[in-house]
Amino acid sequence: MVKNKLLKQHFGYDSFREGQEFLIDSILDGKDVLGIMPTGAGKSICYQIPALMMKGITLVISPLISLMKDQVEGLNQAGIHAAYLNSSLTPGQYRKALHYAKEGRYPIIYVAPERLFTEEFLDFALASSIVMIAVDEAHCVSQWGQDFRPSYLKIAEFINKLPVRPVVAAFTATATREVKEDIIDLLMLQSPALITTGFDRKNLYFGVMSPKDRYGVIKNYLECHPGDSGIIYCLTRKVVEEVCEKLLKEGVAATRYHAGLTDEERKKNQEDFIYDKSSVMVATNAFGMGIDKSNVRFVFHYGMPKNLESYYQEAGRGGRDGQPAECILLYNGQDVITNQFFIENNQDNKELDPLTREMVMERDRERLRRMTFYCSTNECLRDYILRYFGEFGGNYCGNCSNCLSRFEIVDVTEAAKALTGCVRECRQRYGVNVIIETVHGADTAKIRGYRMNQNSFYGSLKAVPVYKLRQIMNELLMKSYLDLTKDEYAVLRLTEQSESVLNGEIKVTMKMAREQENPAKVKAGGKGRKGQISAGREIAGSEANLFERLRSLRMEIAKKEKVPPYLVFSDKTLTHMCILQPKTREEMLQVSGVGEYKFEKYGKQFLEVTSSWR
Ligand code: ADP
Ligand code: ZN
Repeated sequence: MVKNKLLKQHFGYDSFREGQEFLIDSILDGKDVLGIMPTGAGKSICYQIPALMMKGITLVISPLISLMKDQVEGLNQAGIHAAYLNSSLTPGQYRKALHYAKEGRYPIIYVAPERLFTEEFLDFALASSIVMIAVDEAHCVSQWGQDFRPSYLKIAEFINKLPVRPVVAAFTATATREVKEDIIDLLMLQSPALITTGFDRKNLYFGVMSPKDRYGVIKNYLECHPGDSGIIYCLTRKVVEEVCEKLLKEGVAATRYHAGLTDEERKKNQEDFIYDKSSVMVATNAFGMGIDKSNVRFVFHYGMPKNLESYYQEAGRGGRDGQPAECILLYNGQDVITNQFFIENNQDNKELDPLTREMVMERDRERLRRMTFYCSTNECLRDYILRYFGEFGGNYCGNCSNCLSRFEIVDVTEAAKALTGCVRECRQRYGVNVIIETVHGADTAKIRGYRMNQNSFYGSLKAVPVYKLRQIMNELLMKSYLDLTKDEYAVLRLTEQSESVLNGEIKVTMKMAREQENPAKVKAGGKGRKGQISAGREIAGSEANLFERLRSLRMEIAKKEKVPPYLVFSDKTLTHMCILQPKTREEMLQVSGVGEYKFEKYGKQFLEVTSSWR
């Protein structure tokens, strides 16, 4: 199959991911498509591969200049000729690129939507054979979304002008029903083949903590993960400055980004981060649009964002290479107040008429409430997010702080025996409180009055906190190991099943919240990610050293070639190299992410390292 061959040759991958093949085949059949896939799912390949198979030019319309540059560099790295046309080029460069484009040198050309109707570009488009238009970030066409771009409304008109209608392929990561309808209508897709893959990002770990010392958590985390690339989002510019300064003092290669900096500094800091010169970016939410960096290993929120839409988008910048990444929200009660202030004083709303304004504010308040619940819920965090976006997750994902810490399967048989035994010994005369106080050994007038201090279970569960005893009691009631009478003075009674608890016939287990350890001391990722994990396998010891060696080789090459390191090889590819430790060319080509082209370009140098590693 040609498409599989191209996938291997240029991108170094063995198989397609969910949805990719369907979209590629539909495009090759000449059908319009709409792909709604989460960030990192691999949308680009869905149009890049057919673009290589079709005779003619594919135009990719993309709203973000930085993203275009990144994509084009990535394609060139993979041995595919591509170019971009946008305002970052000088007039001379632009004309040159257009000239090559006319000669048919580029099967794939990225273009900003604002360019479509300029005279030069239109001349070129009308005279060329354009076989596909791929619209990236297609939700920008909709006014329902957060990223509306008026220039996107012109895309359909542009397509209509072309002598032969090309296939139109639209892609987005975020589309509610309204946005989806807008994309189909406003881009005038013709009965598109449609696919929505789930929003779940399984490689992302979600965590919420509310430590007293937020900075301490970050510091500790960075010590456990030296050199890892990550983002720390802060609510205000002031906090960005503070955190960044502290980190720099500690010797962390941190940089900052917020709207108060000059364009120049923002650009430089962003590039330092992308090129791994600075491993940690401390930023407000102004940072991130169009950041395609694949090896972001953690995203901290130093404070709660205003809603889950923003949170999931920002956190979603982690782990785009599919490798484990950690998204940790450090919550503080004060954050709610800060966000409320933002809502009540939102300058964008000042223009609105009073009624609309109140509606928008109420919507924002509701979103903030749901965000706040996220920080305090005991449920699975992933499930909470997915349900917020209208999907159904399981109630237990095993890769979030609640699933890993709050839910622990605990054997409570001993406690169950004591509680049930206590009920039997006092001849089923008392209610929940008396029983719990008794086993906990409360020294009160009431307990003495009932002579419960003479019960043989008195104080037998002194070490278990009362709130836990309540949870265990609830569990016993729920499982009918005990029963509560329904009258005014609810009294505990034994049931038919009580006996099997008492004589040790059954083991009683339950999911229970784990004790909060000192959060600053806990390594955030519950699974103890050491460097990298691949396919459930953790790299440690000598493999981790090899990883570091490969990472610095990557850095050398990236510097020489002036490309971001992750475009040389992704973290995932390096991890895979550490596991396979290829000794020959053939073995190196087995590594995920090493295609023939890249092998020739870089693979040899990496092979030198892996083949002599032992
Ligand atoms: P999106 O645009 O959907 O956010 P990208 O197209 O940037 O995602 O792809 C995310 C990452 O996944 C990239 O590093 C890409 O090379 C990788 N990828 C894409 N398709 C595959 C595949 N079939 N197998 C392995 N990795 C893939
Ligand atoms: Zn979970």
